[in-house]
Amino acid sequence: MSSPSRLAGIAILALAVALPFVPGVPAYWITVASYIAMAAIVALGIAVLTGVAGVVSFGQAMFVGFGAYTTAILTTRYGWSPAATLPVAMLIAGALAWGIGAITLRLKGHYLPVATIAWNISFFYLAGSLDFFRRFDGISGIPPISLLGFSVSDGVRFYFLALGLLVLAYVLTRNLLDSRVGRAMRSLRGGALAAESFGIDTGRARILAFVYAGVLAAVSGWLYAHFQRAINPTPFGITVSIDYLLMAVAGGVGHLGGAILGAGLVTVVRDKLQDLLPALLGTQGNFETIVFGIVLILILQFAPEGLWPHLRRRFASKPRRAPPGADDAPASRRRTLPGPGETVLAVSGLRKTFGGLVAVNDVSFTVQAGEIVGLIGPNGAGKSTSFNLITGVLPASGGEIALGLQPISGWPARRIARLGVARTFQHVKLVHGMSVIDNVALGRHLLGHASAVRGALRLDRAEEAAIFAEAHRQLARVGLADHADAVASELALGQQRLVEIARALCLDPVLLLLDEPAAGLRHSEKVALADLLRKVRDSGVSILLVEHDMDFVMGLTDRLVVMNFGAQLAQGRPAEIQQNPAVLEAYLGSAA
Ligand code: ADP
Ligand code: MG
Repeated sequence: MSSPSRLAGIAILALAVALPFVPGVPAYWITVASYIAMAAIVALGIAVLTGVAGVVSFGQAMFVGFGAYTTAILTTRYGWSPAATLPVAMLIAGALAWGIGAITLRLKGHYLPVATIAWNISFFYLAGSLDFFRRFDGISGIPPISLLGFSVSDGVRFYFLALGLLVLAYVLTRNLLDSRVGRAMRSLRGGALAAESFGIDTGRARILAFVYAGVLAAVSGWLYAHFQRAINPTPFGITVSIDYLLMAVAGGVGHLGGAILGAGLVTVVRDKLQDLLPALLGTQGNFETIVFGIVLILILQFAPEGLWPHLRRRFASKPRRAPPGADDAPASRRRTLPGPGETVLAVSGLRKTFGGLVAVNDVSFTVQAGEIVGLIGPNGAGKSTSFNLITGVLPASGGEIALGLQPISGWPARRIARLGVARTFQHVKLVHGMSVIDNVALGRHLLGHASAVRGALRLDRAEEAAIFAEAHRQLARVGLADHADAVASELALGQQRLVEIARALCLDPVLLLLDEPAAGLRHSEKVALADLLRKVRDSGVSILLVEHDMDFVMGLTDRLVVMNFGAQLAQGRPAEIQQNPAVLEAYLGSAA
């Protein structure tokens, strides 16, 4: 975090801590502040789930309910102490989130939010109808929390406990987002395709975000049960879920400070509206729910970024500086590269049809160790599709692909990436909101091991330093060292292509597939790129290259494969290809 917003954060925390000691502060304020802290813990989870992983859930109150009911049942019926039920509540909510996520997160588009509504409603009526949950009467007689023999029975003590847990949740969440697993979650917004191509299991990353949000919600529910001392299904229903989502969205989904701000706003405004609206309308009813529903729709429609980004702009803080690559970080691990003359990639009889269109038709070629092979042909010839087949982004309709001696037909992209296949995309696929260096670091995902827990606890610093040292080294290689902290989408398109190359090099590849890397580059930049690719080749990495700039291709490649309308037209050395009549006719002829 940059210093102005860090100062603002510390100032707000100091005010929150001082609140109970201000003379004349009504006890009621402390109660409201406690509710805000509890709600903010839930909203932080939604910031990760919706803002970072892009999963919209209308069911988070259900997970609050899981936490509340777990501790209510264990303490009232089995005599557990509240302190002992917290880990159990987190575990149960996490396990249920895993199960529900595994079933539900496969759904696409609007089906997913609808499914979360369905889960929430099911839970609400289940708790309301089963004796085990004491139906709609609910469970009462829940004891206050006591920690280390210290009873949290009065309002101020509870407030400090809730505030302490909120601060802890904030710090852990920030650490998590700033770790290897957090980058994987953030990469989901750049499209699953690129993430999977660098070995990230996007389905798993989504479930992880779902579990994390569920566990935070359960912590809030645990607090809530011991604050109220009695629970029933109402605070865990769908209308409350909408309030939670509104908190995260109003503050600015994806911004942790925004989630806390939103929790404060929604809690206070709801409190006021509950008194004001019935008085205005002259009749009883939960009218604030209607107002909040409308506000949620308006925000999603007109200010999807929420309030936080606007506030931040006022503080004019610069984007977070990525950790500099420590010079003493361990050197990049080298894969064992194949020796000269060994076959790195063998494609035979490769075929791909899209409905009636044959995009790739019986294509066979090899790439040897330390060779740059060019794949050329007019637009629509099937070059990018061939890349997608080789990297596992698309399943082939026929033919064989082998990496070294290993057949990889039918493998998913992230498994192929593990063998050292890295690529760039013709249509650049960077994570737009993320810094350049974080994007490059994604290429190193597979060579790291730190789990979400290690990341949240900051036990991953040595590995992170090594990852970023390598990311900085590769970024410098493509000539963009000065742009490490820029937001990726702010670079020119040609530079974004270079960032993709740096990301691919970070994977420590055996085989590098580059789809039109020189498009959008100036002449001097092309010369530098050709230089770099020669050096990469000389280090033993094989390169398969699609490129339209013929000077670039002819000067750089060892061999060419020419495609036209999906079929393979010719293969050979650049000089031979330039003389080949069929190629001249189909391709070079039309270009000249
Ligand atoms: P190139 O990269 O050589 O310009 P492509 O591999 O992108 O060509 O495309 C080859 C052909 O396959 C084109 O006719 C294109 O329209 C078609 N094609 C590519 N991807 C798809 C897809 N996902 N669905 C349907 N048709 C596609
Ligand atoms: Mg293409």
